[in-house]
Amino acid sequence: MRIDLHTHSRASDGTQSPDELVRAAAAAGLDVVALTDHDTAEGWAEAERAAADVGIGLVRGMEISTRHEGQSVHLLAYLPDPTYPPLAEGLTRILEGRVSRVPDVVARLNALGIEITEADVAAVSGDSAASGRPHVADALVQRGVVGDRTEAFTRFLNPGRPAYVDRYAAPLTDMIDAVAGAGGVSVIAHPWGRRSDERPDAATLAVLAERGLAGIEVDHQDHAPAARERLRAIATDLGLVATGSSDHHGTGKVDHDLGCHTTPPEQLHRLLELAAAAAARSGRATPQPLLLP
Ligand code: AMP
Ligand code: FE
Ligand code: FE
Ligand code: ZN
Repeated sequence: MRIDLHTHSRASDGTQSPDELVRAAAAAGLDVVALTDHDTAEGWAEAERAAADVGIGLVRGMEISTRHEGQSVHLLAYLPDPTYPPLAEGLTRILEGRVSRVPDVVARLNALGIEITEADVAAVSGDSAASGRPHVADALVQRGVVGDRTEAFTRFLNPGRPAYVDRYAAPLTDMIDAVAGAGGVSVIAHPWGRRSDERPDAATLAVLAERGLAGIEVDHQDHAPAARERLRAIATDLGLVATGSSDHHGTGKVDHDLGCHTTPPEQLHRLLELAAAAAARSGRATPQPLLLP
């Protein structure tokens, strides 16, 4: 069983439609894929139809933009009811922050003498519910200002670069509670990814585990091998599920091919058991995982 629990479609900042993404996952030899677009469940229905068509397992998820102790934390939520009000309200506020940021980023680029308009960004973000810096990057590529997304981030869009603009992120603990109330389970994405300085540390993760965090993403391209082993040990110590995933964004992110990191079947099994328990407690109409027989 090859299981990839973190991927993005054009519903956020991937470059494939949910249908194309699920078909690509099957073609890459995956048995189970999770669609985890940033801050939205918009891609779920299309992914579900494609998964049923090609006969691959699908776990409906999302990657929520949160903040904890001044640091940005991406929280993967699996199988929550996205209409649960505390979750839905959190997502709406995050998506509004994404939309309202675009004019500020464009203005900063204009101030640098770069010709780019909000319409350019809207043209590339198209059917995305979660417009973001990757779409600004794509618009800069189209204008011939940069060669690819990475160059756009390095020169303009990363924190500390001249066109960086912060945006709203929801309090992490509120979102852990909201995901549980929505009958889902939460897993911190790439906890020690770039610039994280190995925070959240083990003590913080212990507090979050008490709060209801189900797991951490251990095997991820942004973690060096030594960090992966330390995170795996922390997961074991704290009884957290340890996942592995590609964080695939289509052609939008290099070295994140589907299935480049995978989750062991027993870890998915534990996650699904925790999700079933959360669903029973919540009394919400949570999505069921579509799994192969
Ligand atoms: P935003 O959602 O606007 O905060 O932008 C963050 C997103 O940009 C993340 O989801 C990453 O997938 C993407 N990203 C960050 N750095 C890069 C990079 N160097 N190349 C491509 N995508 C990137
Ligand atoms: Fe992304
Ligand atoms: Fe992320
Ligand atoms: Zn991601």
